[in-house]
Amino acid sequence: MKDQQRVFSGIQPSGDIHIGNYLGAIKKWVELTATHECVYCVVDDHAITVDYDVKQLPSRTFEGVLTTMACGLDPDRCALFVQSHVPEHTELTWLFNTVTPLGSLFRMTQFKDKARNALQRALDKKQGGARKTALHELRRTGMGALALCDELRIDLEALNPDATADNPMALQEQVMRINDRMGTILQQLQVGLGVADASCGLFDYPVLQAADILLYKASLVPVGEDQEQHLELCREVAERFNRKFGPVFPMATRIKGEAPRILGLDGNQKMSKSLDNYIGVLDEKDRIISRLKPAFTDPARLRRDDPGHPEVCNIYSLHKLFSDGATCARIDEECRRGTIGCFDCKNQLATAIDTHLAPIRERADHLRAHPSIVLEALATGRDRAGQLAGETMREVRDAMGIGPQALNRL
Ligand code: SF4
Repeated sequence: MKDQQRVFSGIQPSGDIHIGNYLGAIKKWVELTATHECVYCVVDDHAITVDYDVKQLPSRTFEGVLTTMACGLDPDRCALFVQSHVPEHTELTWLFNTVTPLGSLFRMTQFKDKARNALQRALDKKQGGARKTALHELRRTGMGALALCDELRIDLEALNPDATADNPMALQEQVMRINDRMGTILQQLQVGLGVADASCGLFDYPVLQAADILLYKASLVPVGEDQEQHLELCREVAERFNRKFGPVFPMATRIKGEAPRILGLDGNQKMSKSLDNYIGVLDEKDRIISRLKPAFTDPARLRRDDPGHPEVCNIYSLHKLFSDGATCARIDEECRRGTIGCFDCKNQLATAIDTHLAPIRERADHLRAHPSIVLEALATGRDRAGQLAGETMREVRDAMGIGPQALNRL
């Protein structure tokens, strides 16, 4: 008998799925199919909120589905589909937009980070004169915002509602001038944050995420700690919707897993495709070795016989995930005594990772040779997801007084 609470999660079709995704998310997805009704998708509608290659997106989406299946996700035990194949995701997003406060979206730190990174990438791409012009523009808008702040202060000091109460026209003029200045300052600050260049889609990303979850009335979401702020917004949207239109949606919570936090090969930041500090789950052994070669280790080990500290070494953390207990104990001891070099240690890790990933690569090769298995799984998943989505949307449209049924009741 499965738990009544439904689970939802999604993964980006952003190219290689790496061992961080596999250990941190997909393994949990697989486990949850045994105990819960699970809805999983490859979120291509999210992927198009930033610059992307139109020609590559379909193959990346296909590879995303194929790789999750190769990692052990059985499409017969869950609804596995592609987000854009169920158009109710974007319909519900629009309806949620009407109850989502702008202020809450502006607080989303991921939006600001992504917008800033996009601006930085644009600046980096521009060479010589063009780059200089862009930086001058940034400086000019920042200085402009500062000057406007001064003018705003003078206007606010001059604003005296008591003195102008008998002259509504003068009061209105003052208020409009102040309002205009505040709007211009906001626009200029947005340029500073890189927000002005970001699309509405990127800004609305957390609302689409709320729609993804709530479309299936999912109350459990296996995501990392970094998604907690988006889940809070999801609860806020559900709570506002329910308050305004009646109880339709559950409050979703994060499944706090024991999933390890996988650091990237820089030993510093989370493993990520965009930071290029990852090992892909489909990487061959040669590639694993070449990815590990420059990876960060214990900085105290300058020479092969320097005593090391495995507890501060990310290579050792990866050994604990991929090597057996006896190997880990031996490496711990040899590292501390300075009798194993980091090069050897990394090669042993490459062998352990390769052994672990070989069956996944084999399954992926089989699925790539038989694409109909993936396409049929997606069609079945889309039908199942579409049915659940359709039920929720009928309820939502009814609650909001829109759609053909609302007129039929006249
Ligand atoms: S020997 Fe292994 S555990 Fe020790 S510092 Fe080098 S890579 Fe890390």
